[in-house]
Amino acid sequence: MIKLKGIAAASGVSIGKAFKVGKEEFVISKEQIRPDEIPLQIQLFEEALIQTRKEIIGLQRRIATDMGQDQAQIFDAHLLVLEDRIIIEEVITRLKKERLNVAYIFSEVLKKYIDVFSRIEDEYLKERTSDVNDVGKRVLRNLLGKKRSLLEDVKGKVVVVAHDISPSDTASMHKENVCAFITDIGGKTSHTAIMAKSLEIPAVVGAEEATLRIKSGDMLIVDGSTGVIIVNPDEDTLQQYQREEEKIRGISEKFLSVKDLPATTSDGKPVEVAANIELPAEVLSVKLHGGSGIGLYRTEFFYMNRKDVPTEEEHYQAYKYVAEEMSPSPVIIRTLDLGGDKFLSQFDIPSEMEPFLGWRAIRFCLARPEIFKVQLRAILRASVHGNLRLMYPMVSGIEELRQANTILEEAKKELNKEGKSFNNELKVGVMIEVPSAAITADLLASEVDFFSIGSNDLIQYSLAVDRTNEKVAYLYEPTHPAVLRMIKSIIEAAHAAGIKVGVCGEMSSEPALVSILLGLGLDEFSMPPSSIPEVKYLIRSMSFKEAQRIAQQALKLSTGKEVEEFSQLKLKEILK
Ligand code: PEP
Ligand code: MG
Repeated sequence: MIKLKGIAAASGVSIGKAFKVGKEEFVISKEQIRPDEIPLQIQLFEEALIQTRKEIIGLQRRIATDMGQDQAQIFDAHLLVLEDRIIIEEVITRLKKERLNVAYIFSEVLKKYIDVFSRIEDEYLKERTSDVNDVGKRVLRNLLGKKRSLLEDVKGKVVVVAHDISPSDTASMHKENVCAFITDIGGKTSHTAIMAKSLEIPAVVGAEEATLRIKSGDMLIVDGSTGVIIVNPDEDTLQQYQREEEKIRGISEKFLSVKDLPATTSDGKPVEVAANIELPAEVLSVKLHGGSGIGLYRTEFFYMNRKDVPTEEEHYQAYKYVAEEMSPSPVIIRTLDLGGDKFLSQFDIPSEMEPFLGWRAIRFCLARPEIFKVQLRAILRASVHGNLRLMYPMVSGIEELRQANTILEEAKKELNKEGKSFNNELKVGVMIEVPSAAITADLLASEVDFFSIGSNDLIQYSLAVDRTNEKVAYLYEPTHPAVLRMIKSIIEAAHAAGIKVGVCGEMSSEPALVSILLGLGLDEFSMPPSSIPEVKYLIRSMSFKEAQRIAQQALKLSTGKEVEEFSQLKLKEILK
């Protein structure tokens, strides 16, 4: 039995067998072959092509059933690459001439084609690079006899163990197949971790040596609340965790008992406890957990796991569905926030040295108004179907807000001309997640209808700590005095202008921090649906006066650690 420790990313305990997902890299040796080995090498190559064809057709069928014919068509392009006579003939000719092993020759031919395709000016042909790459890797894997161990093949209840998992891979996991996941790298507020919370899959990230210490098939206990991983536990430990699972279930039932009651303090101050969602299907979970609305709908996930860009109609149908399902409760749709740790292959975005400080979110949208406007038009059209609100991410100052609003006005004009209806009074807010926006919150407050504090980014930018880097995770402190002071002044600026303010970063669901945020005057807490009952329970267990006192005392402390310890102590008192 060994014990590993990582960063607790999504709570809950799961027990299951490890399924390792490897990096897609191959070491291909260059081997001279004898002339009499050539037929065998050609046969190996043909078998690998046949096997790859089978895999692609199987995958295509599965995707057609799960996601529809349109998505499955992507694989037609893969099949075309696989049957490309020019590539096949070049491999065979070179094999006969150079007398080197077929895996090596094929990888060389593949490299040449990828290079040629990526330098072509034509956008359509350029896009084929990723098809050639994908198919090429499949063929190589079959040539080298490697078992494919990617998420698409996950069957049964397993714990996925990987060096890293992208947010889009997390989004494609199914709860029926994956009972937990572990990664070597990553931080608590990375979008991979956020997606795990949405799916209610326990997760430990930043476990550093996990992929070195764990083998596929090992029995694992994953405690997503403490970050502890136990590999091949003994019988006593297994029983201890099974008891722990029971206990957690008991506590959740206590929280769930208040889920449909209002989030009002014992002395009568009402606040909102809303949900963060990434996909429209999550509205069900929001209702099940008693969310009073949707405080953050991260729409960029709509662009993931697909090769094309969603049309206005697709956006519209998704937003209309969420608006109608949640009506009359409010739904805040955040416009496209790509970049940082969320990359979208449809857009030609060069890789950057500092993606979190780069061309992301509103900066990208303002530079590409033709893409931005499609989404704005869809939000406007959907606004007649419920209580929709719109919010811009990563705004760093009032100019960006005004520019975004100008495009919004253009979209309104177009819709008017086309005779399409929309809510002209649609409320528009900004996320306060860049320090410059926090410091000029008074200026922004006079031109918007609401604020939502994106603490995940606000913390990383104000403390200069990459939110996805496990090496500096110890510095990522929501309790840092700088963070508390900033939140205090944002709330004061909002209230002075008569607008409401929420927190939609992970901080709002940290049980120990609820009293501080409440005491600072926060109007709305927005979080993964599964955290809602606990936060409601806590709010109902304290008075606003008491929360104000706790916030005042917290503001007097000088380090993040002191605030953390103090807030944990207060939490215990509240729950007594
Ligand atoms: C945030 O930054 O706190 C936030 C809610 O947005 P995201 O996590 O998607 O960056
Ligand atoms: Mg953010």
